Amino acid sequence: MRECLYCEETIPNNRHKNALTCSNEHALLYKKEREANNYIKVRNTADPIIKLREHFIDLADEFGFEVPIDLNYVSPFKINWSLKTGTFIKEGCTGVALGNIGYIFFKPLILKIYKLC
Ligand SMILES: [Zn+2]
Repeated sequence: MRECLYCEETIPNNRHKNALTCSNEHALLYKKEREANNYIKVRNTADPIIKLREHFIDLADEFGFEVPIDLNYVSPFKINWSLKTGTFIKEGCTGVALGNIGYIFFKPLILKIYKLC
């Protein structure tokens, strides 16, 4: 006996033999539910990093790459400093990587943005 993945009822014998659900309707609902779950997963993990990376690219478009940016001109509250995809070394300092974009925070209030490859 096989059970519908959506409603957990027994799958009728007249369904095709690879069916995971009891009806076409439940197949569709199950697919939608799974897609929604995947979407939430992607949003929760990837999105903040992508957004932050875009924020740094916007800053670099405005101020330039590898130039000191006064943090007073940046909104530090928009930046989640704990997000990163890795680290890199430039000018003897360890930077925070967000994909192929990275930044280093120089004391007291200087930020530099780098293109990584
Ligand atoms: Zn069902």
